[in-house]
Amino acid sequence: MSDSKAPANAPQMKPWIAAIHAYVPGKSKGADGKALVKLSANENPLGTSAQALAARAAVSTSAAYPDPDSTELRAAIGKLHSVDPARIVCGTGSDELLNLAAQAFAGPGDEVVFSRYSFAVYDIAARRCGAEPVVAPDKDYAADVDALLAHVNEKTRVLFLANPNNPTGTFLPRAELARLHEGLPPDVLLVIDRAYGEYVDPAHDDGALELAAQTNNVLVTHTFSKIYGLAGERIGWGTGAPHIVDALNRIRGPFNVTTSGQAAALAALRDQQFVIASREHNAATRADFVTALEALGNHGLRVVPSEANFVLVLFEGELTAEAAQDAIAKAGYAVRHLPGQGLPQALRITIGTGAQMQAIASALRDVAGDAG
Ligand SMILES: *Cc1c(COP(=O)(O)O)cnc(C)c1O
Repeated sequence: MSDSKAPANAPQMKPWIAAIHAYVPGKSKGADGKALVKLSANENPLGTSAQALAARAAVSTSAAYPDPDSTELRAAIGKLHSVDPARIVCGTGSDELLNLAAQAFAGPGDEVVFSRYSFAVYDIAARRCGAEPVVAPDKDYAADVDALLAHVNEKTRVLFLANPNNPTGTFLPRAELARLHEGLPPDVLLVIDRAYGEYVDPAHDDGALELAAQTNNVLVTHTFSKIYGLAGERIGWGTGAPHIVDALNRIRGPFNVTTSGQAAALAALRDQQFVIASREHNAATRADFVTALEALGNHGLRVVPSEANFVLVLFEGELTAEAAQDAIAKAGYAVRHLPGQGLPQALRITIGTGAQMQAIASALRDVAGDAG
């Protein structure tokens, strides 16, 4: 996809749409077109629960519209997370819900606040409803509660926070999240995006679902795209106070979750063994990978502390992120370089299998040695 200018006498896109840079998805090919193993989109290297795939395959017809309210799925989500299903809304990926949250609560003249180096969709969500995106500085790549609160004013309508954050992997602990919420005016919607929430050690729960249950200005979003391995089915969910869920229900697609998606997600929820195995595999593989990269600290490599299924690696010495990405591509892997998000000095690398991560660490050792 590329930018394309309309002829003068053709329909003109609204100026706030023209200001949007389309989302750039993670690549699965090298510069030469060669297929690479994709460690650029934070997908689950263990794939999908076999039970979820079976449930999806068992859907025998596509002639009928899906359940518009994802009734069974919401009941199961509510049971697992101790949330009233009436306070849950499902989406075509959590992406739909993030966009709806901005659209329902912000518009022209309003401001939408988020942290530097956070999820690229927040900027798009703010702009597409005509609101002004406002970027608060980070604190060494992590969200900075004081900076976020300092950027809130009477025009602020929505504040987005990903926890853990993408692309940095950083995590705000419960006390910091509570402090962020307490510092916000009650009429500002705090959207806590927990796309990677299931990867966090349950002992470190950030309290987001409690905020969504107990306050009037918090929406928490989750997705089946990451740990559940259902990115191809496009299913997300959100929870918050009834008036927030009502607003999203008014403007969501009426049949926004497919029949096969609802069936797969329902079966995936029932297979918590797969979720636990994925979380444990990720934690162990990430720890080994971080240890291997820390040994390259004398070559200027630094790993941002991560609670997610990826790490952001900073290249602060002779070896550049571009050269490192080339070396990793030669070894057969696609990772994410994000100069467009202000991160020319970094690569975001999804945690794959142990063997894949050893291959990447080895490629980095070789190229770092060559770079001196
Ligand atoms: C991947 C991701 C999502 C999930 O998007 P879906 O539309 O549910 O696939 C949401 N937020 C963040 C921060 C992500 O990285």
